[in-house]
Amino acid sequence: MANGRYAPSPTGELHIGNLRTALVAWLCARSTGGRFLLRFEDLDRVTSRPEHRNGQLRDLVAIGLDFDGEPLVQSTRFEAHHAAIDALIADGHTYECFCTRREIADAVRAPNGPAPSTGYPGTCRSLTNRQRAEHHAAGRRPAVRLRGHGARIVDDRFLGRVELPVDDVVIRRNDGVPAYNLAVVVDDAYQNVEEVVRADDLLGSSAPQARIAELLSLAPVSYVHIPLVVTSSGERLSKRDGAVTLADLRAVGVTPAQVRTTLDRSIGMTEAGPEHFVLAAVPRSPWVFDRAEF
Ligand code: GLU
Repeated sequence: MANGRYAPSPTGELHIGNLRTALVAWLCARSTGGRFLLRFEDLDRVTSRPEHRNGQLRDLVAIGLDFDGEPLVQSTRFEAHHAAIDALIADGHTYECFCTRREIADAVRAPNGPAPSTGYPGTCRSLTNRQRAEHHAAGRRPAVRLRGHGARIVDDRFLGRVELPVDDVVIRRNDGVPAYNLAVVVDDAYQNVEEVVRADDLLGSSAPQARIAELLSLAPVSYVHIPLVVTSSGERLSKRDGAVTLADLRAVGVTPAQVRTTLDRSIGMTEAGPEHFVLAAVPRSPWVFDRAEF
C-alpha cells in the first residue's frame, strides 16, 4: 500500500498531459489501496489564483479521480516550511546566494563555466564573510541554497535506479518565500505521502528532494517519473497547442469519459479500474497527443 498525491500549481487549467500524470498517480495509489491526496502548490503568488483550484479539482473529478480529505493549500504551510529552512541553516547545510538569474545564466554560458546540466554554477558557494557582508551592504537580498552533495541514486519504480546530481537548489527565494524543492518535501511528509508520481521533467529534482528529506529526518518516499505528453512535432505539450484542456475538448464534442478511455489506453490499460493497472505497461516513450484519438 502506498499513499500518493497529485500536486498541481493552480496557475491555469490542467491540460491533457497533466490529467494523464494525475491519472497514473491516482492508479498507483488506488491499485494498492493507498490514500490519494491533493495539494495545490501555490507558492508563486503572482501566477497562482484561487479560482484555478476549483477548476482543476473539477476536471480531475470529471475524469473519475477521487481524493481523500480536503486539498492542502501549500501557502497555508509557510510556517512549517520556514521552520524546516531554519533547521537546515542552523545545521550548516545551506549558503546564501546573491546571484540574479541573469548572473547565473551568464556564468553557465561562460567558456569555462560548468556544464548546463549541473544547475547552479556554485558562484556563492564559498563566499567569504567579507564578500557576503559587502553584498548585504549593497542591499542585495540573498536566496538560501542547499549545499549540494555529489550524486545520489534515486530508486524509481518506473525508471529503475538512476544516478543524479544533488544540485544546490534554492530552498528560500530571495523574496523570502519558501521554494518548491523545500516545500514539496515538507508537505509530502506532512500529508504522509509515500510515493511521488509525476512527469519526468521533474526527475532531476528528486535527488535534492531526497537529500532534503534525509537532512530533515523525514521518511523517504519512493518515486515514479513517467514520460511527458508531447505534440506531434515532439515538443512538450502546452496550452498554446490548443484543444488540450477538458473544456477545449468538450467544446469539440469530446466528453470527459472519452478522455478517460483514451488516457487509460495511453497508459497500457486494457480494462478499466485500478485493479487492472500495471505500471510496467505504461509506455517508456512520451505519449504523442493526437486529437484524432478521441
Ligand atoms: N507543483 C509541481 C508542478 O505543478 C509538481 C510538484 C511535484 O509533483 O513534485 O509542476
